[in-house]
Amino acid sequence: MTSGTPTNGSHQRRALHLVFLGPPGAGKGTQAARLAQSAGIPHLSTGDMLRHALALATPTGLEAKQYMDRGELVPFPIILRLVRDKLQDPASARGWVLDGFPRNLEQARAFAEMLGELRREITRVLYFKVSDESVIRRLAGRRICRRCQSPYHLEFSPPKSEGICDRCGGELYQRSDDVEAAIRTRLRVYADETDPLVDFYRRAGVLAAIDGEQEIEGVKRAVDAAVAGASPRAG
Ligand code: AMP
Repeated sequence: MTSGTPTNGSHQRRALHLVFLGPPGAGKGTQAARLAQSAGIPHLSTGDMLRHALALATPTGLEAKQYMDRGELVPFPIILRLVRDKLQDPASARGWVLDGFPRNLEQARAFAEMLGELRREITRVLYFKVSDESVIRRLAGRRICRRCQSPYHLEFSPPKSEGICDRCGGELYQRSDDVEAAIRTRLRVYADETDPLVDFYRRAGVLAAIDGEQEIEGVKRAVDAAVAGASPRAG
């Protein structure tokens, strides 16, 4: 196991079924990728799956593009198919970190049904709380590596050489939905559709709130503590 992970042995004993919930730009993707790697389980980001499908110009990717560019939700049948395939994959047997799904009550209910069929239970839902103001500042400056998907920020975590990924030398780009008009739509969609899931999962007793305004190390510690079960807080 990589250093810096919770060392209570829980990763070895039981499967981790984690859902990362929160507005766009809350830091979910960064933390989900790190945690998944350290726990040796897949990071299942529906946004990444859709962007990958688009990069390959598959019919799914091309259909999804029009919604993604506007910051709207992609039709549910597409998402359901993507998630179902991933959850049934043998690579997901020891657990997963879901990032970007479910995104509304319809998806959450279908997800609960799917988990019942697969005889799985959610271990914890980590809810990243961040203000709209921070979201706008973070997303507008965000750049991503085309090759390895590592995230950067022009102001907060710039790459060593402009436009080049420190990790793999890939080209950095700005997501087409990280422009102001799409960011505003994404925030509205989050408030209307996704935010009700906070109560949904709080009532189910699996919610842990994370203060996403802290600097990245603080968020990392809060995530590890919530996953280890050391200090889950109903948010
Ligand atoms: P993300 O990378 O999570 O910010 O997702 C980027 C875009 O992909 C979103 O704005 C949606 O258009 C689409 N998307 C990702 N996940 C979902 C989902 N669970 N349901 C519907 N659309 C999604």
